[in-house]
Amino acid sequence: MYDFAYHTASSAADAAAKAKGKSDAKYMAGGQTLIPTLKQRLAKPTDVIDLGGARDLKGISAAGGAVTIGRGRRLGRRQEGHPGPRRAR
Ligand SMILES: Cc1cc2nc3c(=O)[nH]c(=O)nc-3n(C[C@H](O)[C@H](O)[C@H](O)COP(=O)(O)OP(=O)(O)OC[C@H]3O[C@@H](n4cnc5c(N)ncnc54)[C@H](O)[C@@H]3O)c2cc1C
Repeated sequence: MYDFAYHTASSAADAAAKAKGKSDAKYMAGGQTLIPTLKQRLAKPTDVIDLGGARDLKGISAAGGAVTIGRGRRLGRRQEGHPGPRRAR
């Protein structure tokens, strides 16, 4: 792994602000792909911005006949606070 600066972000806007002006910043969601890539030295980002604390990427809502699942929502927590999908007629 090469050296890089590690940042945490509290929101998508905070993440974008932290990436601004960095020559090669990478966002990290789950890290499943990014971390092995870094470990194998296949990438050399200047900065890694961890999206794990970005609450606005974790929301789940239902409106207008559609369910919207934030991209930061973890699979194990998908149905918490929500009745989940119903069988279509
Ligand atoms: C062992 C293994 C098995 C896998 N099996 C499968 C499988 O069966 N099916 C499948 O579909 N995939 C599979 N993958 C691929 C993996 O699931 C995908 O690459 C997935 O996108 C990784 O999600 P992550 O949240 O961990 O992404 P990360 O590793 O955090 O990020 C992946 C890339 O996306 C960028 N990125 C992350 N978030 C953002 C954002 N909000 N905006 C812009 N860029 C962003 C990162 O900078 C990085 O370049 C596998 C990967 C591994 C290592």
